[in-house]
Amino acid sequence: MSDKIKLLQGDITQIPVEAMVNAANSSLLGGGGVDGAIHRAGGKSILEECRAIRARQGGCKEGDAVITGAGNLPARYVIHTVGPVWNGGQNGEPDLLRSAYHRCFDLIDEHKIKSVSFPNISTGIYRFPKTLAAEIAFEAISARLHEAVEQVNIVCFEQESYAIWHNLLQQRG
Ligand code: ADP
Repeated sequence: MSDKIKLLQGDITQIPVEAMVNAANSSLLGGGGVDGAIHRAGGKSILEECRAIRARQGGCKEGDAVITGAGNLPARYVIHTVGPVWNGGQNGEPDLLRSAYHRCFDLIDEHKIKSVSFPNISTGIYRFPKTLAAEIAFEAISARLHEAVEQVNIVCFEQESYAIWHNLLQQRG
């Protein structure tokens, strides 16, 4: 199954795929990092859909995920997930990060999504240690991969994350 995991370096908004995962924040109103890039490139329809979700359920909790259309992005869906802010690691951060990936896969299964791109959730502004985050991501993705999912892109923005994933996939992949 892990031959379906493809490691890429670049801007997630430029890579055509069925569903793009956004490392959002609980307000769902956009922010910096990959969230800012997705809303900028996707246009205002994504924000409008996020506002409607907020009105309905009051945002998105840490470790949870919601789905919208993808506006002008080369995708059909954006899955907005909220990873934990790293605060030393004793506050449930690993479980919350694991949950973020699993909730994305709940939506992938529900919408029968065949290809998906993930950024390194929580490892930017939220300061989650990159190696631990990659291990948690790899385990969650491997646990949830199944026949109907054809490709999972791991899109690394910086070289450091790419190198961490490269080593991890060589060891475990
Ligand atoms: P978080 O708040 O969850 O930490 P960030 O967006 O700050 O979210 O960072 C998550 C990861 O996404 C980091 O590894 C960051 O380098 C990366 N990133 C930022 N912009 C992009 C982009 N356009 N495409 C892919 N990854 C990105």
